[in-house]
Order: sequence, then structure tokens, then C-alpha cells
Amino acid sequence: MIPPAFEYLRPKTVPEAVQMLQQHGDEAKILSGGQSLIPMMKLRLARPAFIIDINRIAGLSYIKEEGGFLKIGGLTREAELEASHIVKSKYPLLMDTAEVIADPQVRNMATVGGNLAHGDPANDHPATMMALGAQIVATGSKGERVIPIEQFFVTLFTTALKQDEILTEIRIPIPPAKSGGAYEKLERKVGDFATAAVAVQLTLDASGAVASAGIALTNAGPTPIKAKKAEDFLRGKKPDAATIAQAAQLASEAAQPSADLRGPAAYKVGLAKELAKRAIATAVARAGK
Ligand SMILES: Cc1cc2nc3c(=O)[nH]c(=O)nc-3n(C[C@H](O)[C@H](O)[C@H](O)COP(=O)(O)OP(=O)(O)OC[C@H]3O[C@@H](n4cnc5c(N)ncnc54)[C@H](O)[C@@H]3O)c2cc1C
Repeated sequence: MIPPAFEYLRPKTVPEAVQMLQQHGDEAKILSGGQSLIPMMKLRLARPAFIIDINRIAGLSYIKEEGGFLKIGGLTREAELEASHIVKSKYPLLMDTAEVIADPQVRNMATVGGNLAHGDPANDHPATMMALGAQIVATGSKGERVIPIEQFFVTLFTTALKQDEILTEIRIPIPPAKSGGAYEKLERKVGDFATAAVAVQLTLDASGAVASAGIALTNAGPTPIKAKKAEDFLRGKKPDAATIAQAAQLASEAAQPSADLRGPAAYKVGLAKELAKRAIATAVARAGK
């Protein structure tokens, strides 16, 4: 299918792109990897009159540790995350996630910024970034502002980004020693969106008890869902099998999925419980290494 006609704009700097967003208002859309926007245009679910392609803007693609954060440029491709030595060695949750997004062809184009800015609760990075306690850097006409990830996802396909703002960076706090994470996803076939998925990031203290935990669910409601009761329950406890099972139960109780072609709601809640159990157990094992 061919998308409806649009005017194609290609800024060379972030301020130029922001100015274009201001000028064209709701009629304009940013183009990053195009892996969600173009299909939506072909299906006539989006009809922007102006496409602002930010791919020629230099300096928006990087992965580096700096000032206590892992900083990921908004235009960084999924394939770059997968190939990153820092991510591979220190951020297993992020690596697990990057590896199960779509297929290699999509990952060569799709960006981390686009995955979050799209506001799709079926995307994999939203829950992962929530479990990691990330921050989003938005750049607009008034300069830069930092949005805590818990305030970023407003509702289905709606984020806290203002009309003239571009997601320019994601900041993940560098985890302390004895930290580990894992992402568990069930998909109908390779390349599919999650039927359900669970992201877990935790840190153990010197005694082996859980010092901090981040748990979030993918495709379990209109936004990614933070499983706060499960996080609170784990804190201060030794993560033995019974504790992990109880935390997984609490995580699944946070899910509010809808029935769809991927299965009935009750099945997805049960799935969230099992995936949470596996993800917590793997995160604990990785943190202990
Ligand atoms: C076959 C297929 C399978 C897929 N499977 C998965 C999957 O399993 N898991 C998963 O997570 N995703 C999946 N995706 C989605 C894919 O990861 C998308 O690429 C991603 O959702 C959007 O990233 P993008 O860079 O392509 O953004 P685009 O398509 O370019 O943009 C998406 C939206 O975000 C806005 N936007 C993009 N970048 C910015 C920015 N920097 N600042 C402000 N707004 C911005 C755009 O205006 C648009 O509204 C799949 C896609 C396809 C085609």
C-alpha cells in the first residue's frame, strides 16, 4: 500500500527540526526509523501532511556512560544496542530486550527513541526503561527537559512529549555492583509483538537480600505497567523460590490486559505471572555473579 501524500522535510540540526515542528503543529510528524510511522501511514491510521526526517541530524546516535548514566541517543538503532559492548557486558535487561524486538531487518532501522516516543504498550522498550528507572530527555523550543519514565507514558499512543519536542536522549542510572536484569517475552512467532512480557532489574545487598527492584509489564494495559506491589514486596527479602513466586503473583495482579488475537485476558495474566517468575529468577542469578 502507498501512504497518502505528504511534504518531506529534512532538517540538519535539532533546533531546525524543533522550528519545523512549531511551524507545522499537529500536521507534522518526526520520522526516525519509520518502522511504526510508515506502516501506520500505509494503513491510513496516520496522515501527517509534513514528515520531518531527523535521520540527517548528526550527534543523535550514541551509547556511552557519562555522569552516572548510560546515555543513549534518541536516534540509536536497535542493532547498535545489540552490538554494543557496554550493553552486552553491563545491561543484560537492555540486551535481552533489544534481541527480541521484531527481526534483524527492522532492528537495523528502528530507533530506541522512536520505540519510546511511539507510546505503544506492545513495544518492548517502555517496560524495560521503566524497570531500569530511566529518564527521557526532550528537546523543544524552550530547551531541554528531563522526564522521569514513570511520567512519560500518558495513555495508549500518547506520551508526555509536547507537540514541539523531540526525544533526544534516554538516561539509565548506572547500576551498582550486584545488579542484574532480565526480559522474558512470549511471542506467537519470531518477530511478533509480545503476547505478554516482563522486565526486571534488581540489586542485591551484601547479605544477598534484594536492595532494590524494578518490575514492569509489556502489553498488559494501555501503557507499560509498573508492578509496584511486587517491587515493594521483594525489597529487603532473600529471593528464595517462595518469595519469587509471591512477587510474580503480585506482578501479575497489576496486569490489566485486553483480550485480542493473542489470547484472552485471563491467559495473559497467567502468562505475566510465569514470565515474572522466570525474569526475577534470572535477574537474581545474574546479580549474584
Ligand atoms: C514487522 C515489525 C515488527 C515489530 N515488532 C516489534 C517488537 O516485537 N517489539 C517492539 O518493541 N517493536 C516492534 N516493532 C516496532 C519497531 O520497534 C518500531 O521501529 C518502533 O516502534 C518505532 O521506532 P522507529 O524509529 O521506527 O520510529 P518511527 O516509526 O519513525 O516513529 C514512530 C512514532 O514516534 C515518533 N517519533 C519517532 N522518533 C521520535 C523522536 N526522536 N522524538 C519524538 N517523536 C519521535 C514519530 O513521529 C512517530 O509518531 C515492529 C515493527 C515492525 C515493522
